[in-house]
Amino acid sequence: MKFNIAVIPGDGIGPEVIAETIRVLDYATKGTDVELNYTSYLAGGCAIDEVGKPLPEETVVGTKASDAVLLGAVGGEKWDTLGSDMRPENALLGLRGALGLFANLRPAVLFPQLSEACPLKPELVKDGLDILVLRELTGGIYFGEKDRDETSGYDTLKYSDYEIKRIAHVAFKAAMKRDKKVTSVDKANVLESSRVWRKYVEEVALDYPEVTLNHMYVDNAAMQLVRYPEQFDVIVTGNMFGDILSDEAAMITGSIGMLPSASLGDTTLGMYEPVHGSAPDIAGQELANPLATIMSAAMMLKYSLGQDDLANKIEKAVDKALTDGARTKDIALPGELTLTTTQMTDAVIANMEK
Ligand code: NAD
Repeated sequence: MKFNIAVIPGDGIGPEVIAETIRVLDYATKGTDVELNYTSYLAGGCAIDEVGKPLPEETVVGTKASDAVLLGAVGGEKWDTLGSDMRPENALLGLRGALGLFANLRPAVLFPQLSEACPLKPELVKDGLDILVLRELTGGIYFGEKDRDETSGYDTLKYSDYEIKRIAHVAFKAAMKRDKKVTSVDKANVLESSRVWRKYVEEVALDYPEVTLNHMYVDNAAMQLVRYPEQFDVIVTGNMFGDILSDEAAMITGSIGMLPSASLGDTTLGMYEPVHGSAPDIAGQELANPLATIMSAAMMLKYSLGQDDLANKIEKAVDKALTDGARTKDIALPGELTLTTTQMTDAVIANMEK
């Protein structure tokens, strides 16, 4: 099977972690019937430098025609002083819009080997953590009618049946591949939009009888994430609640260099990127942890390309490398031996089953 992958290395450590990830993908697919063809596109600061705008038309056309998009990171100080329509980050918003990506999946995984990086009490995370936070990305209060005058302002929180149903389907489908449990987070004791949210999530749940659904108010969910995080499998929620809860869940895992993400739409085409930014402070120094991007590629294999076995192979190799003690600086304890970006990738490849 041949797949076309649009690759957007971007800025800062983006090109470094993308190059390492392609090495892992090439190794994982070697000798299999899966062939990945990569085409590189510009976006972010490097696109501003080369063609004068953060998201060139060619990138939009190329990504739309691909099977999946793998992105490093965009942005950096050099472009911070440009006007708001020339910000490198506009490339991300533009791509999400152009590709119709309405679901943001952020797994917050704490590997037991790294439990000391977790700010929670050790007994709360003794078996590690594996939560998938699913955030609605293109609706809700960030996109509702808004205005302000001298002394007041308002934002509108509105969700419609089709927006809720489509994200709920993504949540239940993801749960079917995991522990078959969905927690839908809302504020239905106060908000009408949440009552509608609940109604349609329950309707979609009927299509997935194997999955257990429970509802939780957002204030309680924020508390439960630090009180008893192991109770969660898939959390599905609206745009603003998801924005906040996904950062909280990420923090529980301790390191930003370990967190992958996926943005999905109605088709199998998705965009996969690490949660971290372009980290200009460590760019070009072989200090970047490539694991967040490598695990984003594993998500790509699973969600866009339907290659669950290859994805599992990569995830297992990361797990084994960590068990072997492979650590980049960001996840090492003081005094521990650390690996460079390239060496960490080598460790993953060395631990991959053929
Ligand atoms: P950042 O995530 O780039 O860096 C925060 C801190 O984490 C830094 O100390 C950095 O060295 C460290 N870090 C990040 N990724 C790491 C990795 N893989 N390995 C080891 N250490 C890592 O966030 P920031 O400093 O706030 O932003 C830097 C630039 O990135 C800004 O221009 C920002 O706008 C942009 N940004 C882009 C994205 C994206 O492309 N999706 C996301 C966030 C920030």
